[in-house]
This record gives sequence, C-alpha cells and structure tokens, in this order.
Amino acid sequence: MKRLFSFLLIPLIFCGCAKKNETRRFFALDTQITVTAPKDACEKTYELCRKYEKIFSRTDPESELYLINSGAKKTAGEDIRALLSLCEKMYNITGGAFDCTLGALSDLWNIKERTVPPTKEEIASALNKTGFDKISLSPLSLGGTQLDFGACAKGYIADKAADALYKSGVKKAILDLGGNVYVLGTARVGVRDPQSPDKLFCRFTLKDKSAVTSGSYQRFFEYGGVRYHHILDPKTGECAQSGGSVSSVTVISPSSAAADCLSTAIFVTGEKGLELCRAFPDTDALIITNKRTVLTTDGFKKKYSLEILD
Ligand code: ADP
Ligand code: MG
Repeated sequence: MKRLFSFLLIPLIFCGCAKKNETRRFFALDTQITVTAPKDACEKTYELCRKYEKIFSRTDPESELYLINSGAKKTAGEDIRALLSLCEKMYNITGGAFDCTLGALSDLWNIKERTVPPTKEEIASALNKTGFDKISLSPLSLGGTQLDFGACAKGYIADKAADALYKSGVKKAILDLGGNVYVLGTARVGVRDPQSPDKLFCRFTLKDKSAVTSGSYQRFFEYGGVRYHHILDPKTGECAQSGGSVSSVTVISPSSAAADCLSTAIFVTGEKGLELCRAFPDTDALIITNKRTVLTTDGFKKKYSLEILD
C-alpha cells in the first residue's frame, strides 16, 4: 500500500481582510505550492521558487546541488553555503538526529517508488556513505556523502520568499510550500489528524511566523503490516521510530528554515526533542502522539490560541 498526502499543515483563513490578494498554485520543489498574495507578489514568489529549484533540486541534472553531489562542481554558491552552515548547527544541536548528508540513505529508501524495504546489508552499506562528520565546509568536500536538503530547503526558500514580500511592502500573504507555511499578517492554520488525514486535529493562529509539520503519514508504504516512511534515523539508517510514540511534529518559528529542520529532528528524537526549540528564538513545537495526546513546549497553547478539535 502506498499513500501520498500532500499537506500535513493547511492554512485556513486570514484574520482581517486582504482584499487584493489572489491565489496562485504551481508545482515546484517536488511539491504543490500555494501562494495567496497580491498579484505581483505571487509572480515574484513563483520566480523565486523556480530560481531555488535550480539550486537545491537533487534530481535536476542542471541544478547546483546535483553538480556538487556528482563532483562536477567543487565550490558552493552563497545559498548552499548558507544552508550547509545551518545544517551544521542543526547536526550539532540535535546530536546528529538532523543530518543533511544522508542522500545515500534517502536514495536507498526511495519511499516514492519502493514497495519492499531494503535489506540490512543495503542499509549498512548506505550508512557508510553518510555522516556530517565526514564532510568539510571550506574548502567544500563531501567525503563520499551525498547532500540531501529535503528536510530544510523548503524552509530556507519560504524565509527568502517571505523576506522579499515584506521588503516590497506586502503585509498580508500566505506562502504554503507543500505544508511549509509562512504567514505574513495573521491566519489560522490547521494540522491534519495523523490517523484520519482528511480531517483536522488542531488549529492555531500564526502571526508573521512560519509553521512546519513533519509526520509519518505523508510519504510512506506498508509492508508486512509495518509502515515505512520518509523520515530516517541517521544513526540506524532505518525509518525513524521517534521513541515509538510520535505521529507528527509541528514547529512554529520566525525562521521557516529552523522550523523545517527542527520538525524533522524532533520527529527523529521523539518527545524529549521538544527541548531542542530552546536553542532558537521564539520557537515552539507541538507533538501529536500515537495515542492522540498533545505535547507542547511551554506557553504554546496561550501564544497561538491552540484549539484541539474532536
Ligand atoms: P517533508 O519535506 O517531506 O515535508 P521533512 O521536512 O521531514 O518532510 O523532510 C523529509 C526529507 O528530508 C526526506 O524525504 C529526506 O529527503 C530528508 N531526511 C529524512 N530524514 C532526515 C534526517 N534525519 N535529517 C535530515 N534530512 C532527512
Ligand atoms: Mg523538515
């Protein structure tokens, strides 16, 4: 069985009017993107996503990341350098739960196509080609690893897009990069129910911030009654077990890049991962457990008017 749910997080409504806004949808960065903003801001965001696709795509043979991973390009441009330095920080803060060098493992697991899990031997061999400690940032050397920005590029791009809109005077907009949401102004946002993804589990209010959700119910296949999903534990090379108890993690932060990395890292780390938010300003998280209970950082409920739905 193979399921693909596109968004774990859904912007619901603007709070306050934003009459001149229109909605533009397009496919980029391997996901569905929806921009609600004034017409020229929609266009600007579209161009920006296309630009970053040419930098961060792992599959486009002309992208900068592809050329770096294949060894054809030896130096990284500004954006890859910036993202790598965030990834280094994340690797250190999360004790390796976030590791952007696990390209060999995500290729092996290839959740979009696979129907049967890889063997222990295949996993062990791919694990040998991963590890942030194998790489050097300047001069850039990958040490036999492959970079995979799947858990952070959308956040990085959402920050760039939001920045560009603020700078051009836009005060109300919603950028939804496949569930990496950035709200300019104020909007209610809903998190899907991990057990019934066609329903919402909870809602909260975002004001000039980003929210990002990672979960095991978005990209996965089932084999022998076990669910295999796309968030990997860099230590074991297996799908992250999240301490056995986490269904989804939503992180709210003024930095969408930080929220993107953290949602993945907390999913890998499990409940105690909530503490990782402390390393980032004004950053909070919410975990929906397998038992349908909710765990949050202090103050989440009050700060974001959290509403748990039945
Ligand atoms: P999505 O972007 O699909 O909403 P995530 O942000 O959690 O979800 O990113 C998952 C993607 O990141 C995977 O498809 C894979 O490419 C990569 N990835 C998986 N596990 C990790 C990890 N532990 N650290 C860094 N990147 C990861
Ligand atoms: Mg992520």
